[in-house]
Amino acid sequence: MVEWRKKPKKEDESVSYFERISPHIDIMHAEHETDRPILAAVQGRRRTLLIDAGNSPKHAALFRAYLREQNCPEPDLLALTHWHWDHTFAMSAWGVPAVAHHATAQMLARLARLHWSAETLRELENERIISDRTVADIRLEYKEESLSAIAVVEPDISFQDRLTLDLGGVTCEILHVGGDHSVDCCYLYVPEDRTLFLGDALGPSVYGGPMAYTSASFLRLMTIAEDYDAEVFVESHGKPLSRADFLAELAPYKQLAQLAGQIGNDRDKLAAELKNCLGAEELPADLERSIDFFIAGFADAGDSTST
Ligand SMILES: [Zn+2]
Repeated sequence: MVEWRKKPKKEDESVSYFERISPHIDIMHAEHETDRPILAAVQGRRRTLLIDAGNSPKHAALFRAYLREQNCPEPDLLALTHWHWDHTFAMSAWGVPAVAHHATAQMLARLARLHWSAETLRELENERIISDRTVADIRLEYKEESLSAIAVVEPDISFQDRLTLDLGGVTCEILHVGGDHSVDCCYLYVPEDRTLFLGDALGPSVYGGPMAYTSASFLRLMTIAEDYDAEVFVESHGKPLSRADFLAELAPYKQLAQLAGQIGNDRDKLAAELKNCLGAEELPADLERSIDFFIAGFADAGDSTST
């Protein structure tokens, strides 16, 4: 279950830290305490691709140590799902060429000019570039005294719509999809392993105001995801899921997005219809929260369409 969908609770400890999820792909699982996303290494004959850098050099070091233990070649190329700190702040620790969407590159170029301190975090929060939650997570990951050690790095290669990386017998197709979470979100697909990395693309917006979803955007991203011939779906802050489990987990959210598109911003009606569609007396807390995200999305758009 992905973090913004689940109700806040203690981390599920039943999952091992690292896992080979398919013939060419090793991952480090997400950790929720300081918002560490899944990191992946995709191993081809010629190149090993790292998907997302991690949120700190400490985070990167843990994955690197695992890869060494497994005798995996060191990653020699990095691809980013989007610019958010938890996916990119460890770029300096890997020291490999990084591939990113041009909007990711633009944002990181801006952040790369900053000298990092508590004051920098406050300013970014005031400008709504990051949130109070992100400030708290960064402080927890880096501790006060090492904030100045943060060094944001710009990507080396940027693209507009899509890019395919050939790793030698294994490929990675990167597609810019955008969406509510962040305009630069990308999907990364490894067709040889039928594994789709969705990054955070299916999450609500997290910066610039209250967390928000918009119906059309969510449904568009779901359609793109479903159209892949994928058997494994990896959301950055969740656990890798089989196709059947992914579709089952997302089904109520898709239903909610469809209802939001039909009903508009009438929260009570939306909740009642969703209960009706799901045959549920009560909605789980994560769906209740998601209704709030869709309602916030209507406010964002200045759209009060209601039927
Ligand atoms: Zn994100």
